[in-house]
Amino acid sequence: MSTLFEKIAAREIPTDIVYEDDLCLCFRDINPQAPVHLLIVPKKPIVRIAEAGAEDKETLGHLLLTAQLVAKQEGFAEKGFRTVINNGPDGGEEVPHLHLHILAGRKMTWPPG
Ligand code: AMP
Repeated sequence: MSTLFEKIAAREIPTDIVYEDDLCLCFRDINPQAPVHLLIVPKKPIVRIAEAGAEDKETLGHLLLTAQLVAKQEGFAEKGFRTVINNGPDGGEEVPHLHLHILAGRKMTWPPG
């Protein structure tokens, strides 16, 4: 059975896609926590960081470089942004398909909740 994010990548569930390449997809979060809230998702359904393997090294690096790319593309690279990966129950993970949150458009606070 495919994950929610595989269904989004297959266009079975509509969403606002802002970037796509061979390895990943970037789209707007349906429940934004900041003026800009994007998700970068590998097309390979890696479950979470804790379950990634050495063979995923290129994909994992690609997600961060894609964050840089979409930050420039969407115009918030200079003002700044936050990247978040939730992992497991205590990490706040809801969707078991690895994804990088990109939050921007307001000043972030620290520590996060
Ligand atoms: P996490 O809690 O880190 O697993 O994040 C899952 C994220 O997926 C949440 O921020 C949700 O708002 C988001 N989400 C769930 N369903 C959709 C959808 N259909 N389109 C876009 N974002 C979604």
